[in-house]
Amino acid sequence: RDRADQELISLQQRIDTFDAKKPIETFSDLPLSSKTLKGLKSSHFVSPTPIQSLSIPDSLRGKDVLGSAKTGSGKTLAFLIPLLERLYMLKWGPMDGLGAVVISPTRELAVQTFNQLRDIGKYHSFSAGLVIGGKPLKEERDRLGRMNILIATPGRLLQHLDSTVGFESSGLKVLVLDEADRLLDLGFLPALKAIVSHFTTGSMDDPTLRRQTLLFSATQSSDLASLAKLSLKDPLYINCNKPG
Ligand code: ADP
Ligand code: MG
Repeated sequence: RDRADQELISLQQRIDTFDAKKPIETFSDLPLSSKTLKGLKSSHFVSPTPIQSLSIPDSLRGKDVLGSAKTGSGKTLAFLIPLLERLYMLKWGPMDGLGAVVISPTRELAVQTFNQLRDIGKYHSFSAGLVIGGKPLKEERDRLGRMNILIATPGRLLQHLDSTVGFESSGLKVLVLDEADRLLDLGFLPALKAIVSHFTTGSMDDPTLRRQTLLFSATQSSDLASLAKLSLKDPLYINCNKPG
């Protein structure tokens, strides 16, 4: 076996045996690939924030996660890191098509997330694109087929799912609903329901084939609970907003 395969095997062992009780001081204390660690280092990220340390180990195991933490607590990396790692562990390549989708409430947030993905993901070889409208549907559509990772706003993504023949959505491995409270405030619940049902959940028996869903929000509400119920399977709940 070559070195890359060897790295994947030992990474998977570190993920499986990760001890959540040990203090996490730097990102290198987490079972992450050298490509991602290098990307984090060159972007000057040294130590994970609480929402990152508490969620990333389970997200790396393929668990669904509902993470709540106030604005500015680093939720973006809490999903971008496991998203990259998951595709890397699956040896996702150009021929595998769409592997991960991040839903953002606004164009501005989608662009910010895309830029952060490009920064920390620059040593990986995935293709990534934005689906936020502002360009003719056809122009976006032509690029979609070549993307491994999409950062999208809900309305525009749904337009593509409904109208783009052959939009490959069956192999999706990671679905992220970011800033879910804002998505709901903006009235996107029906669009999110349609999107979630579009992407199949995959095999429940084989965790490597299953679609993982990560849902992050600054606040919690009853609408959020219903969104969680329809999109998440046996999730891990992490709430960094709890007092004390
Ligand atoms: P949230 O989505 O929770 O509002 P963001 O993901 O937008 O938070 O992160 C807020 C800011 O914190 C950003 O500028 C981001 O670059 C920075 N940040 C995130 N994680 C870390 C970290 N581990 N170390 C230092 N800065 C971080
Ligand atoms: Mg955010």
